[in-house]
Amino acid sequence: MRIILLFLWSSVALLAFNFEIINQELANGKSSLIKFKYEPSVEYKSIQVDGKKYQIFPSPREKGSFYALIPFSYYDKPATKTLELYYKENDTLKQKLLFLRLVRGKYAKETIHVDPSKVNPKSPKVKKRIAKEYSEAMRIYKSVTPKSYLREPFILPMQSKITSEFGKARVYNGSLKGYHSGTDFRAKTGTPIIAANDGKVALVKNRFYSGGTVILDHGEGIYTCYFHMSKFDVQEGQVVTKGQKLGLSGQSGRVTGPHLHFSARIAGVQVDPLQLISLLNNNLLKVQN
Ligand SMILES: [Zn+2]
Repeated sequence: MRIILLFLWSSVALLAFNFEIINQELANGKSSLIKFKYEPSVEYKSIQVDGKKYQIFPSPREKGSFYALIPFSYYDKPATKTLELYYKENDTLKQKLLFLRLVRGKYAKETIHVDPSKVNPKSPKVKKRIAKEYSEAMRIYKSVTPKSYLREPFILPMQSKITSEFGKARVYNGSLKGYHSGTDFRAKTGTPIIAANDGKVALVKNRFYSGGTVILDHGEGIYTCYFHMSKFDVQEGQVVTKGQKLGLSGQSGRVTGPHLHFSARIAGVQVDPLQLISLLNNNLLKVQN
């Protein structure tokens, strides 16, 4: 792998700009990171994938370096993905095509038994509440704060056993209902939950499915979410630092028992939170000695 990457670096050095695709082959539900190096005549603009535009931002730690995060939905099909890179060279807008391979993730299936009223809610009032909560959350996830709060590597929201990974196909009370959209940590009610990184509190709310919910905006389209909480220690609009207590775990919302459901979004797309964290920690937020 290292040899291939070195080859990539040297082959693109002939072009006017320098880039590195950190993960050129990845599964549905994962994120890809592309890094760019400063070139005096080049201004990096954006990357477009499947008609969706992603911004290129300055790297939070490395001066003269830039990055773009490209999220792939769990429902994305295996394919060669074309990344249209837009950049300005000597004031002329140019396009360059980059490619990566999306493969099918090896995700398991799990069966879950929950209160039937939480699987297929029939009441119009509940349906209305769910729709409202969904559109409110999507409005948050899709807004890209043009600054980054990130300065240091991410940490986990608690030190505990992972009881269910991201991506498991889920069968609720016998019927298939999507997939597990985050990572579950074992946590008896009342266990402290901490911020995975610096950010701004975008939402604090009791919701139908996710129960006690906190959403953190880390800037530049990156969000982390903390579900099923029993108590909140933060307020909307508050700026929090990595490791700060957000509240306590619980078993509110659609759950089979107390735990923390931890998830992440990039530009509105739900992605594997632990893969995102290790991708960013190892390639963008690494502490240099
Ligand atoms: Zn979960």
